[in-house]
Amino acid sequence: MLRSMNAVFSRLLQADRILVCGHIMPDGDCISSLLSLSIGLERIGKSVVPVVDWKIPTVFEGLPWVERIEGFSTSLPEFDLLVVLDSSSPDRIGRFEKLLSKISSVLIDHHATNTYFADTCWVDPSFSSTAHMVFRLLKLMEVPYDRDLALINYLGIATDTGFFRYSNVDSSVFETAAELVRLGADPCLVATRILENRRIEEFFLERDAIDNLKLLADGKFAYSFLDTKDFEKYALEEDDFAGFVGQLRSISSVEVALFASEYRKGEAHVSLRSKSYFDVSEVAVAFGGGGHPKASGFTLRYDGILKEALQDVVSFIDSRLANSIGS
Ligand code: AMP
Ligand code: MN
Ligand code: MN
Repeated sequence: MLRSMNAVFSRLLQADRILVCGHIMPDGDCISSLLSLSIGLERIGKSVVPVVDWKIPTVFEGLPWVERIEGFSTSLPEFDLLVVLDSSSPDRIGRFEKLLSKISSVLIDHHATNTYFADTCWVDPSFSSTAHMVFRLLKLMEVPYDRDLALINYLGIATDTGFFRYSNVDSSVFETAAELVRLGADPCLVATRILENRRIEEFFLERDAIDNLKLLADGKFAYSFLDTKDFEKYALEEDDFAGFVGQLRSISSVEVALFASEYRKGEAHVSLRSKSYFDVSEVAVAFGGGGHPKASGFTLRYDGILKEALQDVVSFIDSRLANSIGS
């Protein structure tokens, strides 16, 4: 793995104009790794544009450099290198996927389901977050850190570990987080911004999601969903309601949790979580998505209504759970 990090490092050193790209439906790790790497590369003299082909969720507004993230446009300048972050497959970068066949590319990611779609890939599922991989790379590049860079780099490590609670937490996570705090990251500010920044409408939406909640497989499987009219009712978007699948997993009997949100008629994002033994990434891959053994997702496309379209995946999980060893 060190070999691939060094390969990525030398590829970055050779390039001058670099397009750094995160994934659609950006999460904390996406924003964090995208901005940390972009700022780090600028600090060693590169010309960089950070991009994401999606609206940036309001929860990240006001964090350092977030306003610099650009969307997809055909008027972007010429680049010598495309760097893709935190993305397991090419469809995760939306319309920027087209660039993969046009300019040389580098990939930095921590998903076990990664399809190695760039010219130079550094993929290591032993890392808790892509932000942690970027931290290693910036150290190797001897990039100077200030408070803002430390804070934005800390963000992805905190969010992808569920604020240091998930099974991907090991001593290296705490060591890196501690180093970023020494460099000026404020853990309370990050936690408050992400976790204690909810609108009252999200609670109303949560009430609707609880109304749709079903428990199957002797309480081991919990699922729920919301459709576009639920989001419209409170003028909220799918991105504004990211944490509910974690709430479903927190039910004591639950091993697998599923939450589906219809962000456009006939199209839903499905989030999957498991607690100890069930590998949800296998389910996600079977339905065209990807992720980690305990946190995965995919896009469901259908005619008709979400509640009915979900039944295939619901029975898929239900029967797998019935046959799994841990049950
Ligand atoms: P989420 O449920 O959206 O928080 O996503 C959980 C994990 O699954 C993250 O690591 C995502 O990168 C991954 N994931 C979510 N949606 C998809 C998708 N459509 N395709 C591949 N991976 C996904
Ligand atoms: Mn991500
Ligand atoms: Mn990640």
